Amino acid sequence: MKVQSIKKFELFIDGEWRASGSGETIESINPATLEVVARIPRGNAEDVDAAVAAARQAFESTEWREMLPAKRGRILLRMAELIREKKEEILELERADTAQPRWLLEGGVELAARYFEYYGGVADKIQGESIPLRADYLDYTIREPLGVTAHVVPWNYPLQIASRSVAPAIAAGNTVVVKPAEDTSLSALKLAEIATEAGLPNGVINVVTGYGNEAGQALVSHKDVDHITFTGSTGTGTHIMKCAADNIASVTLELGGKSPQVVFSDADLDEAAQIIVRSITQNAGQTCVAGSRLVVQKSIQNEFIQRVSEAMEKLTFYTPSSEDYDVSPVISEKQINRIEEYMEIAIQEGGTIITGGKRKEKGTLLFEPTLINDLPVDSRLIQEEIFGPVLVVQTFETIDEALELANGTEYGLAAGIYTSDVNKAHWLATRIRSGFVFINNYGTPEGGVEMPFGGMGKSGFGRERGLEALKHYTQVKNIALKIKK
Ligand code: NAP
Ligand code: MG
Repeated sequence: MKVQSIKKFELFIDGEWRASGSGETIESINPATLEVVARIPRGNAEDVDAAVAAARQAFESTEWREMLPAKRGRILLRMAELIREKKEEILELERADTAQPRWLLEGGVELAARYFEYYGGVADKIQGESIPLRADYLDYTIREPLGVTAHVVPWNYPLQIASRSVAPAIAAGNTVVVKPAEDTSLSALKLAEIATEAGLPNGVINVVTGYGNEAGQALVSHKDVDHITFTGSTGTGTHIMKCAADNIASVTLELGGKSPQVVFSDADLDEAAQIIVRSITQNAGQTCVAGSRLVVQKSIQNEFIQRVSEAMEKLTFYTPSSEDYDVSPVISEKQINRIEEYMEIAIQEGGTIITGGKRKEKGTLLFEPTLINDLPVDSRLIQEEIFGPVLVVQTFETIDEALELANGTEYGLAAGIYTSDVNKAHWLATRIRSGFVFINNYGTPEGGVEMPFGGMGKSGFGRERGLEALKHYTQVKNIALKIKK
């Protein structure tokens, strides 16, 4: 599967396609076929300098600063249209990089379009307030853009995560430099092409591909970057926050999770099992909000575990001849090795593997959906994000125990509660430490662009999506005018 549709895999800086200064490239591998599908530039610090300079110049330009907010919005709305029109081209790129099934890729493209549509609609509604003081004062606030924003994007949902932060940043009048993950850079380059076609001025969006510790590092420690939005691991997020501190740049950190799925005995068990299995196996478990801990009431433990393991065993795997399957390959050998290491740890810690626990076939990156019971509460498998299709079981008798288990990790990204008792659901929802709580569902079919999203604890801070995200891409200025007669 070679990628045909994008002509140049080059850096996108100041409205132009360019080779990296070093001239070096990185091979991008399809995780299903293990073939090289593309070569992307290995951007370096010089390339990042050029991209940040272009973004700064565009930010200061009259064309961008004084553009009618409604016009800015129309460009974003046009981007949404173009994303939908070019769905098949984008799908091809994203499939080459991620080997995700069609249903997931289609959802991702539509979600990307929705981000541009949603924030295109709010570009001319970012308003300040007037504040009553003494009669001879007029006091008001305006919301100004921050300046140059950096977007460090992971490999699990490349296009939609890039769109999630780029769309509100541009809607609010900032300029952006995107550093996609080295494994999955193609769709971000396509996004830059689409932005230009939609009429975004040169320099407002720039994309520098390359390694995290080279291009990424140069970007997050750049003196002229005002804000960094990062999605990825807690370790890299911690490092990026330290780099940002040197320049007093603000950060939005969307880090990992170990999101509990709390199932009470009075829940619709068939429905809950289906939702939970989907959540932990979608994209081979490489989802920040993956429901990776099953916290189940003891009285239904055996019955529910059976339902979940049966559902897992029925799932279909990637095959070269099918576009629609449940379980995709893991992104890289490095990631599948990590999952395999966790399986060894599970055995050492006394865990019982109920189903799965190994690669489907040697020489592939397919990992079997896995359910593990009997782990101690301080087990690394219970405490750490695995980023694979691995669900660990914890059991409770009372709602207080359920809460303690749900809150029993350093993370706090999302939680699912399954019960037919609205009182229990609400009691727990207001006490669980997580940015997102779903009751009798997990994720919305349309993707939830309107819902504020982000973590508590080591899952990060700042909120993406919804109107809330705009607060992170604007700063408030207060203006006080003394009135004389
Ligand atoms: P990662 O290190 O957090 O990488 C995420 C992004 O940060 C990539 O674009 C990466 O670039 C970049 N990066 C890495 N080091 C950087 C640095 N010093 N400065 C600036 N940018 C840098 O994640 P990973 O190593 O790919 O995956 C490891 C684990 O992270 C996973 O197993 C999972 O637990 C977690 N993870 C979570 C999410 C999430 O959505 N919450 C997403 C991805 C990974 P390159 O890829 O080009 O090096
Ligand atoms: Mg790849």
